[in-house]
Amino acid sequence: MAIATVNPATGETLKSFGAMGPEEVERRLAAAESAFAGWRTTRFEERARLVLRAADLLDVDRDDIARTMTVEMGKPVVAARAEAAKCAKALRWYAEHAAELLADEEPSADDVRDSGAERARVHYRPLGVVLAVMPWNFPLWQVVRFAAPALMAGNVALLKHASNVPQTALYLEDLFRRAGLPEGCFQTLLIGSDGVEKVLRDPRVAAATLTGSEPAGRSVAAICGDEIKKTVLELGGSDPYLVLASADVERAAVTAVTARTQNNGQSCIAAKRFIVHADVYDAFAEQFTAGMRELTVGDPLDEGTAIGPLASERGRADLEELVEDAVRKGATALCGGSRPEGMDRGWFYSPTVLAGVTADMRIHHEETFGPVATLYRVRDLDEALAVANDTPFGLSSNVWTRDDTEVERCVRDLQAGGVFFNGMTASHPALPFGGVKRSGYGRELSGHGIKEFCNATTVWFGAEPSDS
Ligand code: NAP
Repeated sequence: MAIATVNPATGETLKSFGAMGPEEVERRLAAAESAFAGWRTTRFEERARLVLRAADLLDVDRDDIARTMTVEMGKPVVAARAEAAKCAKALRWYAEHAAELLADEEPSADDVRDSGAERARVHYRPLGVVLAVMPWNFPLWQVVRFAAPALMAGNVALLKHASNVPQTALYLEDLFRRAGLPEGCFQTLLIGSDGVEKVLRDPRVAAATLTGSEPAGRSVAAICGDEIKKTVLELGGSDPYLVLASADVERAAVTAVTARTQNNGQSCIAAKRFIVHADVYDAFAEQFTAGMRELTVGDPLDEGTAIGPLASERGRADLEELVEDAVRKGATALCGGSRPEGMDRGWFYSPTVLAGVTADMRIHHEETFGPVATLYRVRDLDEALAVANDTPFGLSSNVWTRDDTEVERCVRDLQAGGVFFNGMTASHPALPFGGVKRSGYGRELSGHGIKEFCNATTVWFGAEPSDS
């Protein structure tokens, strides 16, 4: 895949970059190794000072970097600005909380004695150089949610970003350099996916994190498995959105539109399958479809646009294949189901609601990365949970109910890394983020995220033999 900015709203190539050659990659690996030797021993206060400066610079740059993201991958510029603001917030959160999250832990006095020690504690040390392989869909956020905790823990980062967001990738390196982080602490590698294996196998690289598709995750995890290197994988999702009989249907329908179409429908944690109790199905289907129909599809640089183009022609073709397969096998498009009329340039697709989806359709099992929702009518909570869990994925889930018994059942039985009640899934620095099943493993954000790339070290002091 060429490393280039291609505007998805027009199909026009705006800027191309050559991949870095072996010598440049080697230079950056050496710089990362040498940066780690110093950065790992810096105090939390010093790291926080520099990471806070990066947050301040990002606030100043917000409009410019938002425009760059929009031009590179097509998200509405309003959402791009919100993404930049969220990144600054995450940088600040980790700058303020890292010391406390990674404070030494002491077992109870009884357990210390039982281990034969006079004293014992757990100390968190950074692992080293971490390679981050990242996707284009939230081109700032995916990187920052890894980089903020990793840097605050004393690791250093190499970024291999998606090939269609090179300007955002270079911006991130520049941001951390301007903030004053020592040379080599955060570097971008402009390489294609075929250059990843060599970097992963380099002994100077300690670990890797990948956010992206299942094939990419499998490949990176297999190489790291072979090298016995730690990985975190954040992969695809097909999150269920349950609307149960006691739900506030109106709010559920309004929220469903945003939950499905945020980021032009290209979010791993977007609600994708809408599983609705028969008692409220008709009302929900009508209000949800009306909301989807009303969305403004257009130029993502326009302040009033709700839905921009898909990020690539291939991405739109994949989505079209899923919809066509479903319709051929009997699904009905309540709205959309095609490209918007009169929009011949760019990779636009109309917001779509499909009803009558069955298990023999590809769309039932595969991820829809675009503004396409599937609707299911269910008899009761048992059936709702069965449909919700009938997926290879397990990223997050959403449930609308006012019934406490249903809440307990959903917390216990939904196979996912999160259960969001009476709202939509959203990430926050203080809450762990990640999935089960084919959505990956490991967690980002919160204390769980910062410890993923730490060596939890047991520090044990033998007790002096007693005289008696
Ligand atoms: P992708 O094709 O897997 O690309 C992601 C990154 O992996 C890019 O940097 C890509 O580089 C690289 N890559 C691709 N194949 C590789 C390989 N064989 N070895 C090493 N690196 C490889 O995914 P995408 O289409 O950009 O992103 C969409 C997917 O990401 C969706 O499935 C979405 O659900 C998932 N996602 C998950 C999360 C989460 O938190 N769980 C968040 C966002 C997105 P090139 O661009 O150079 O190919």
